[in-house]
Amino acid sequence: MRRGSPAHSTRGRSATTSSRLELTRRGFVTASAAALAWTASGCRTTGGPRPRFERDPFTLGVASGSPLADGVVLWTRLAPAPLEPGGGLPPTPIDVHWKVSEDESFRRGVRSGRALALPELAHSVHVELRGLEPARMYWYRFDCDGASSSVGRTRTAATAGTRLERLRLAYASCQHYEQGYYGAYRALLEDDVDLIVHLGDYIYEGASRGVEVRRHEGPEPVDLAGYRARYALYKLDPALQAAHAAHPWVTTWDDHEVDNDYAGDASQDRDDPSAFRARRAAAYQAYYEHMPLWGRARPVGSDARLFQRLAFGDLLELSVLDTRQYRSDQPCGETGGGGGQVVEQCAARLAPSQSFLGEIQRGWLLAGLVRSQVRWNVIAQQTLMAELDQKAGPGEAFWTDAWDGYAAERQRILAALAERSVPNVVVLGGDVHSFFANELRPDFRDPLSPVVASEFVGTSISSDGLPYERFAELLPDNPHVKFFDSRQRGYVRCEITRDRWLTDFRMVESVREPSSPARTLASFAVEAGSPSIQRAS
Ligand code: FE
Ligand code: CA
Repeated sequence: MRRGSPAHSTRGRSATTSSRLELTRRGFVTASAAALAWTASGCRTTGGPRPRFERDPFTLGVASGSPLADGVVLWTRLAPAPLEPGGGLPPTPIDVHWKVSEDESFRRGVRSGRALALPELAHSVHVELRGLEPARMYWYRFDCDGASSSVGRTRTAATAGTRLERLRLAYASCQHYEQGYYGAYRALLEDDVDLIVHLGDYIYEGASRGVEVRRHEGPEPVDLAGYRARYALYKLDPALQAAHAAHPWVTTWDDHEVDNDYAGDASQDRDDPSAFRARRAAAYQAYYEHMPLWGRARPVGSDARLFQRLAFGDLLELSVLDTRQYRSDQPCGETGGGGGQVVEQCAARLAPSQSFLGEIQRGWLLAGLVRSQVRWNVIAQQTLMAELDQKAGPGEAFWTDAWDGYAAERQRILAALAERSVPNVVVLGGDVHSFFANELRPDFRDPLSPVVASEFVGTSISSDGLPYERFAELLPDNPHVKFFDSRQRGYVRCEITRDRWLTDFRMVESVREPSSPARTLASFAVEAGSPSIQRAS
């Protein structure tokens, strides 16, 4: 084990040395009196007196993410006043120390180093740690001039290709702050999982119209300051912080991290695309600043590469998709506003040119699946992949914001799984604030079309569900849907072994209480070698 090796990220290091003096000088010129007082007592690196922070700079907690066999990203953000512009800090770089240990009490330290929290990244810190041992737990924390963060726990992945008997994961989506507390994350603290996957709608840009348990602060974000403040508000939630500190996370976004139902550079309100690109750039930037992501996900302008594939021994590969950034506009929206709608006659949703993933991401996904040697091929994506006829009885209607608006590309992917005999494909989804268990076929209307994958869609952490009665009556029209319930909030927990995939749909009793007991609503099994879904309990 190496000790004390430097682990500034490459980007962080290159950005700092030359600009540091200038930023420091500018900071002294522009910072408020309060901030100046803080600077005088700030987290300087060496020499001089070692005064203390007047306020805790680690208000937003810690996180780790995207685990590899030899590394993981450690995250925090300095923000003594998280809801104020600049987080209560002057626009100067600040040195932060980090420590990684094999034990919770930091007696067996394995790595430590310093990282710069840069004002242009909202004083976030991304420690891109490599050189760790595979498949083991580590504890980490950050220190800054006498202030210490909470202690986080993380875990590296098993080396790709080596035998792995079991993996446990949980996944979550859709956590509207106003519509409920995050008791689901509290429940998750009791689960011994290897990682948490977040499928999107980590924040909501829009206010709730319904009954609320708490309120957003500030208006709908449209610029960097606005999105930063929104992430800070969400990350102040103690249950969310605890879930980040407890396990490594793998994250991707859906629409509300930017704007409801956006598609590429087409906004819901049909904004000028270049104006919307500027908004998207701000939103993507704030997302990177608040998530434990590798530097390759850092946005360049309004583009950011979020899709990635992670390997866990020879047991599982996780392909994490971004179904927002590269997609075509929703079809058949010419007469209304932007965004999704339920359509009955819409030939354009079947057009081969309608892409949900974009050509590059689709090629990358299929190449990875075809090449894969692992037991379970997992696709983590945002929404419902299965077809869903939303017109009860004769006739059909489809929601254009999900895969149903991009049906030819879905068919192409599912047909490729059949043609190339890709085994044991499991799709994880969110977005629809409901539990679904579905069998996926290249042609959902043809009973002879083979089942090529199983899909488990998780309900929302807190966001209001779909109207249950209306959707429950659609089940006879959609025989590939094996289970549906939209009346609960919660998350999904999976235990994956070589022979069997077990999914538990976990529900909390109420989102109106910060702590609410959780229980399993239903469990499903998939046996390796057969993608059909069995009810397990
Ligand atoms: Fe949502
Ligand atoms: Ca129908």
